Amino acid sequence: MSRTADMAAAVLACEWGRVLDAVASDVGPHRGAGRVADYIPALARVDPGHFGMCLATRDGEQAGVGDARVPFSIQSISKVFGLTLALRCRGEALWERLGREPSGSAFNSVVQLESERGVPRNPFINAGALVVTDVLVSEFGAAGALEAMVSTLRELSGNPAIAVDEEVAASEAETGHRNRSLAHFMKSFGRIENDVDEVLDVYFRQCALAMSCEDLARASLWLANDGRAPGRDEPFVSQTLARRINAIMLTCGHYDAAGDFAYRVGLPGKSGVGGGIIVVVPDRLCVAVWSPGLDASGNSKVGTLALEAFVEHTGLAIF
Ligand code: GLN
Repeated sequence: MSRTADMAAAVLACEWGRVLDAVASDVGPHRGAGRVADYIPALARVDPGHFGMCLATRDGEQAGVGDARVPFSIQSISKVFGLTLALRCRGEALWERLGREPSGSAFNSVVQLESERGVPRNPFINAGALVVTDVLVSEFGAAGALEAMVSTLRELSGNPAIAVDEEVAASEAETGHRNRSLAHFMKSFGRIENDVDEVLDVYFRQCALAMSCEDLARASLWLANDGRAPGRDEPFVSQTLARRINAIMLTCGHYDAAGDFAYRVGLPGKSGVGGGIIVVVPDRLCVAVWSPGLDASGNSKVGTLALEAFVEHTGLAIF
């Protein structure tokens, strides 16, 4: 970048900084609201008062507020990257293994799986993500599947220190009875190719990756840039694939609250029970927000309020 372009980016970053300060002040009175995910004991110990937000634009501006640089458990946000890697390997054939319709039920629900003969509704509910992980294990082996995910996230975010939080991974493995039952149930229908425990281990570990809002906003930028990640010569994915992943985020990224999130925020997004949410403003920027307290659907309560405020302040929504 030239010096003038550099300075222009700095001025814009400062304006974005003011927007994020205003958002943080709007949600200030709500800090600590919601319930941390207590079904994973290591997440139950996280201070619900955390709040961080970071924005990265495709033109290279960046701004953050609060705990924007504090790593947290990305949980189901990892499903976006797992799906992307699986689609890169298998293309449209991936859809022989799972659907791409909103489920209208909780992220860890078992009910649809029996009537739909072990085929998950979409890749962002747990059952669907387990199938995606199974595909990655078939492609890369168990160690290779996790390595593919970690190295992709390190490269896209520019942070080589991204790693699994072993305490969270162990905690989830100890208490992951619901995910075990989903995986075994699908195996009984012949829908899981690999050893169930191996698939679960990769899944638990990918959910336990620790990243900050800054890491996530940067790692997601290709979603706002027709599949091109900044600083990479080759596109990360095709324009078509980036568009399709955005579509699945909009329709399925918040489980049984996907409609509510589209109504309130109006952007493709993906949440995780660690309290993180990423959203995409197509052709412009990505925002990542973190506040650990969740609503009844398992989505960050204050994070969603902050994104609503962000859209109010900027008018940046797709509708
Ligand atoms: N690891 C979590 C689970 O499997 C992910 C769920 C989520 O973030 N919604 O229960």
